[in-house]
This record gives sequence, C-alpha cells and structure tokens, in this order.
Amino acid sequence: MKTLKDLNVNGQKVLLRVDFNVPLTDNMQVKDNTRIKEAVPTIKYLLEQGGAKQVICLAHFGRPKGKIVEEMRLAPVVSELETILGMPVGYSRDLTVPEGKVVLLENIRFYAGEEINDPEFSKQLASLADCYVNDAFGTAHRAHGSTAGVAELLPHAAGLLMQKEVENLEKVLHNPEHPVVAIIGGAKISTKISLIKNLLPKVEYLLLGGALANTVLLAQHKQVGKSLVEKDLANTISDLVSNKLRIPVDVATVKDIETKKDLKIKAVGAVIADDIILDIGPDTVNLYEKCIQQAKTIIWNGPMGLFEQTDFAKGTYGVARAVADSDGYSVIGGGETVAAVKNTGLENKISFISTGGGAMLEFLEGKTLPGIEALE
Ligand code: ADP
Ligand code: MG
Repeated sequence: MKTLKDLNVNGQKVLLRVDFNVPLTDNMQVKDNTRIKEAVPTIKYLLEQGGAKQVICLAHFGRPKGKIVEEMRLAPVVSELETILGMPVGYSRDLTVPEGKVVLLENIRFYAGEEINDPEFSKQLASLADCYVNDAFGTAHRAHGSTAGVAELLPHAAGLLMQKEVENLEKVLHNPEHPVVAIIGGAKISTKISLIKNLLPKVEYLLLGGALANTVLLAQHKQVGKSLVEKDLANTISDLVSNKLRIPVDVATVKDIETKKDLKIKAVGAVIADDIILDIGPDTVNLYEKCIQQAKTIIWNGPMGLFEQTDFAKGTYGVARAVADSDGYSVIGGGETVAAVKNTGLENKISFISTGGGAMLEFLEGKTLPGIEALE
C-alpha cells in the first residue's frame, strides 16, 4: 500500500476520500465529530508538509441510493469541519469544484455511478484533480468509484488514518505479541462467524458474549429460553468446538424486556423456557477478566449484552474495564462496541480504536479490501 511518503502532492490538486458519515441530531447538527476529527491530520499534512494547492474532499452520507436526497446533503459537516480546521471550507452542492484551499463536494452517493463503480464516473472524478488520497477506512470494504475506481486513474496513496488503521489491524492479525485474546460479542453470530473462524487459530483464548453466545449455547444443547438467537445457525456451528473458546457460565435474565420482570443472575444450566438472556453474568466477567489480564494483545468487537439498558451493561462495562486495565496492546472496533466503551470514559486507555465497523470485520476475517488493494 502506498502512503503519503510515496506521493508528491506539492502544487497539486488532491482528491481526498474521507469518511464523514457522522451521526446527526434531529436538527441536523453533527452529534459525534470523531470521524471529522480523524480526517484532519491528513488534510493538514497535505497542505502543510505536502504543499498541496488544493484539497478536494469526497465523502458519502447515509444511503441515498444514487439519488439526491435533500436531508442527506453534506452541509452540516462543512461548518463542523471549518471549526475543527480553523479555516474556511468551500462547499459545492454537486461535483463542481469550488474555490478554496479545502473544499467538500456533495454526497458522492447521490450519483448512481458511485456504488456500481462505473468507469465513466471514476473518469469524471479523476478529472477533478491531479492525484488521489484515500483516508476513508470505513468504506474500504466497498469497491466504489470514489474508493477503488478512481485510484486506478490517478497517482495515489493512503492517508494517515488509513495507514494507521491498516498498520494496527495488520499488527494484531499477523504479528501480535502472544498471548492473544479475542473478545467477540454482539447481536448475530451470522455476521461474526467468519471472524471467529479466522481468529481461532491465531489466538490463545476467544471469549464469546452477547446474543451471539446464545446461538453457541443452543448449539451445545443448552436452554436459552426466549433469548435472541439464530436457530438455523445452531446446527452449522456445531464444528465450532475448541479448547480456546470460552462461553458464558452465568447470565443476566428477565422474563420480559420492557418491565424487566424477575431480573436474575443465573448459571447457564439454570436458564428455563421463559427466560430472556440479556447480559453475561458476574462469574463470566471474572473468568474473562482473568484471561484478559494475561493477554499481550486484545482484539474486541461486539458488546457482551444489551448495554443500551443500564441493567444489562455490567458485562460489557466489566470487560471494558479489564481491557482498559490491561498492559497489553488493545484494539477495539464496531459501532456499538466503541459507543459502549465511550460510555465508560475509558476510551483513552485503549491502544487503538478502529473507525471502521464493517471494514474492520472484513480485514480481521482475512479478506482483501478493495479500497486498500487499489492503493498498491
Ligand atoms: P458492533 O456494532 O460493535 O459490531 P453488533 O452490531 O454486532 O456490535 O451488536 C451490537 C448489539 O447487540 C447491541 O445493540 C446490543 O444491545 C446487542 N446485544 C448484545 N447482547 C444482546 C443480548 N443478549 N440480547 C439482545 N441484544 C444483545
Ligand atoms: Mg453494530
């Protein structure tokens, strides 16, 4: 992968793909500006060390599916970027390039050519600038015009964020210090099974939690009551037997999610037909904590329970504390996982927080990401 050291941007117009797909409030203000902040080092580098003539930012927002959707314009991002950069940002409501050192073009997914990676569309993008830099790790798993197509047509490189993401994930996947502990949780095992299978041979322990552990419990013929579970998958994951695997030994259960009726901690064997499992229990947290304490490398994706409700956040927050307290190298990612860790205020004690949800998962599954491959 080419990096900024390999690209001369002096006096050039640089097309910079960024990830500005940020959450907005009801009155269209940026709710969490993490992704905008993360793009700033590359913008500054291009202008200052690089001596670029102009930085033309390209970004997507939401899923407008190739059509103009007024509520999905990038206007709210512009003022936030101006504040963070401390300089004016030009904004165009289409793909014409406005005046200014830093400019942002309109939501790239308003154009049908983007998601089908249409060569004509990529040519149009390439005609806007002299070279191309991709800093949008979050969309690197998509072969789109602005992430893959255009890279073939211009001198190119990864931005600083993209480089940092790839270096960190490569390190934990291919060159980690052992013992390695992976923690996998979240809602559905169907979205994480490839990840689990790719990580198992590389780790000393793989700790499972969240609703996806329910499916593993079911595969082992345990009662999971009315818990969230993927019944169809229980048969296909019976080959998921490994002495590295750790599954919950106790869980937090209720009879009804709304009323939280009969909130109880139960040993896994004591779960009955009308129970709903919503978190890992304290004994499981203790066991997982002991594994995490030994780890030199930790990879974590997926909450341990329905952490959005305080009653079922103890497992996730307990694991977050153990990861934060570890001296090992910790990498976490996933929309909900990162949100949960931020709730605890422990995010500064994590070695690396990936900005990519789906992209991080695919990277850790061992897949080649088209947006990264295009930067060779
Ligand atoms: P990430 O975005 O970090 O990759 P996922 O999207 O896979 O994580 O899953 C996160 C969601 O899983 C959270 O919203 C959480 O509430 C839910 N979840 C975790 N455990 C359970 C459970 N036992 N029952 C219901 N939902 C759960
Ligand atoms: Mg998620």
